[in-house]
Amino acid sequence: MARCPRCDGAFLELEAYGELLGWYLGDGHLTTGRRGVHNLHIHNDLRYPATNARLAALMGAVKPGGRPHTRRRPGMLITTVSWRHWPCLFPQHGPGRKHERPIVLEAWQREAVEAHPAAFLRGLFHSDGSRSANWTSRRLRDGTVRRYDYPRWQFVNASADIRGLCCWALDLVEVPWRQSAHRTISVSTRAGVARLDALIGLKS
Ligand SMILES: [Zn+2]
Repeated sequence: MARCPRCDGAFLELEAYGELLGWYLGDGHLTTGRRGVHNLHIHNDLRYPATNARLAALMGAVKPGGRPHTRRRPGMLITTVSWRHWPCLFPQHGPGRKHERPIVLEAWQREAVEAHPAAFLRGLFHSDGSRSANWTSRRLRDGTVRRYDYPRWQFVNASADIRGLCCWALDLVEVPWRQSAHRTISVSTRAGVARLDALIGLKS
């Protein structure tokens, strides 16, 4: 039986944990199974096999020896690992949907993110984020209109608390962001996108 970092003082690989925390806050949830065992389920798009393989490896790093199993839903892969101690690692677990209750990190979780902000951002942006092409046009002095294409990252989440954690982590790595819509945080400066690309990599 895997020992718990919180109950038993077992080793926790903080970088993997930070990334998994991002995934949990993005597209993860816990369910309770038999005999108090909890299941961590993370949903992700089937189009990203490398990202899904990475997610399974992360779960196995946080719960040593944990063997993820997967189920397919239309367009979707659900990766699951069972463990009695998931609520110790994700104390944000509670009744109701994440955006209908406060999501506040404990001090030890904040320390994990502060130590590995890029890992946390990778989890957040690879679950609830996207990198897409955007464009704008500008009229030049001679009257012609020129189109400019640029990539941007966007993080979309219904929870103001989770969006706040995303902004906090972006501040930690000095990537400029703005709230571009009610539920959307955008990184769209050229330097900011380049820095975020280098820190978190693309979904693949
Ligand atoms: Zn525990």
